[in-house]
Amino acid sequence: MSEYDVVVVGAGIAGLGVAGLLQSAGVRTLVLEKGRTPGGRARTYDLPGGWRLDSGTHCVDLGTESACARLLERVGRTIEWTRPMEGIRIFKDGAWMSQEEFLGLSEEESGELNGFLARLKDMPDAEIDELDTVSLSDFLAGAVRSDKVTEFLKMIGMVQTTLSEAENISAGEFAAIYREALRQSRAGGDAGKVRMPVGGIGVMTGAQAQAALDKGAEIRYSTPVRRVEPTGAGGFRVILDGEEISAPAVVMALPIWNLVKMLPMEEDSPLPRAWRERMKGLVRETSASIGYTTGLTGPIFTGPVYLSAWRVPEVGLPLQIFGQTNFDASLAPPGHMIAFIGTPCTPDQAENEAWRENTLAVFWKTLEQMFPGIGDKVVWNHPGWAVGIDGLGRSPGLTGRYRPKVFLEEMPGLYFAGDCYTGRGVGMNAAANSAMICAEKILADLKAGGR
Ligand SMILES: Cc1cc2nc3c(=O)[nH]c(=O)nc-3n(C[C@H](O)[C@H](O)[C@H](O)COP(=O)(O)OP(=O)(O)OC[C@H]3O[C@@H](n4cnc5c(N)ncnc54)[C@H](O)[C@@H]3O)c2cc1C
Repeated sequence: MSEYDVVVVGAGIAGLGVAGLLQSAGVRTLVLEKGRTPGGRARTYDLPGGWRLDSGTHCVDLGTESACARLLERVGRTIEWTRPMEGIRIFKDGAWMSQEEFLGLSEEESGELNGFLARLKDMPDAEIDELDTVSLSDFLAGAVRSDKVTEFLKMIGMVQTTLSEAENISAGEFAAIYREALRQSRAGGDAGKVRMPVGGIGVMTGAQAQAALDKGAEIRYSTPVRRVEPTGAGGFRVILDGEEISAPAVVMALPIWNLVKMLPMEEDSPLPRAWRERMKGLVRETSASIGYTTGLTGPIFTGPVYLSAWRVPEVGLPLQIFGQTNFDASLAPPGHMIAFIGTPCTPDQAENEAWRENTLAVFWKTLEQMFPGIGDKVVWNHPGWAVGIDGLGRSPGLTGRYRPKVFLEEMPGLYFAGDCYTGRGVGMNAAANSAMICAEKILADLKAGGR
């Protein structure tokens, strides 16, 4: 007999969410995490000198109304949120301007944009589902006449999904995220509800971990799981370094690129071949980025806004700048600024050293034009790149019902959670959504099984 009803692998947003929800319902849950702290990709680090650094921008789309906030509420926690983002400013021809100025829409074009947004706001789920296999560029080619409106909507799609090309963005995902923002927002809807937890994203994932512990779940850190194997008798063997745990149910709360290393994926695996092949095929279907994280002696811009240089000429990529301390000054020493400066790119680009060096050099030249004298303000500057920002990339044919499910019909007791699995929304919200879907499915299965 296992000591636990469910073992969860991974203490990111998804794993902690599943654990908190299950344990709240009286299901004995153990979380195994290879890292020393909770949060996975969503952590905050204390650096010497009074800096608190998030592992990436970590803007929570829809803020207090987000799936992340709902998940916390469901385990009885609330956190303090920063003020909301107030909009996007764009750099063009040597000057900063609003979206409206950048676009310079005629009355007719404004009418077309408003009509499109009204249609989006009322779009039924079934229509969005149909758009899951269509690219944003194809969808807009059929739905919008004005080139400027098309360009604007592509830019929104890119900001929403962290993918750099409209051909790679699923129109269904674009419509689902934008519809939600329009419904939640009083005006515009593209940025008005984006917030961050005060104190950094680690405050949110720390609260999730504490909620799971308070409910009675156990979390073991520094505990890498090497393999998870079905026993053949309806349970699972979870293999650790020098220890084995058996459990009737296991949740793999990990991205697919981690998961394929842990489950039996070989020819003689008891897991269905079609599923295994699909999982292996999805490993590279994620977003990537390169850029700088920079600590500055003072602000290079003010206000809770998101800055973009729409297509930096020499590299054709959308440089984006996010001044985290404009939302939460407590993250840096008084008067100082933390800025995330970067762009989404493909995994192949991010892994190409020569390409990275050239692109970062071009970006720095652009930054010097945008913020003359920026070099004199730098306290520290970390160039970096990441593959696996969030997953799966929101490409046509990979979103909504096309995402892998949170369970496997052929293998009862094996579940999945995280930003790769069924559930709409951007990174952290996708992970939070999947946690709620996964926990509901497990509870329903336990009930059906007489518990
Ligand atoms: C640089 C960057 C910027 C981002 N910006 C944003 C943003 O602005 N907005 C947004 O919504 N999202 C953003 N994201 C995405 C967001 O961080 C993720 O979508 C979200 O955190 C995923 O949560 P998760 O629980 O699914 O996975 P993870 O956080 O990856 O959790 C998986 C956990 O499993 C653990 N694990 C892996 N292997 C093992 C093993 N063998 N044994 C035990 N444990 C294991 C990992 O250590 C990790 O803790 C960003 C990500 C990055 C990297």
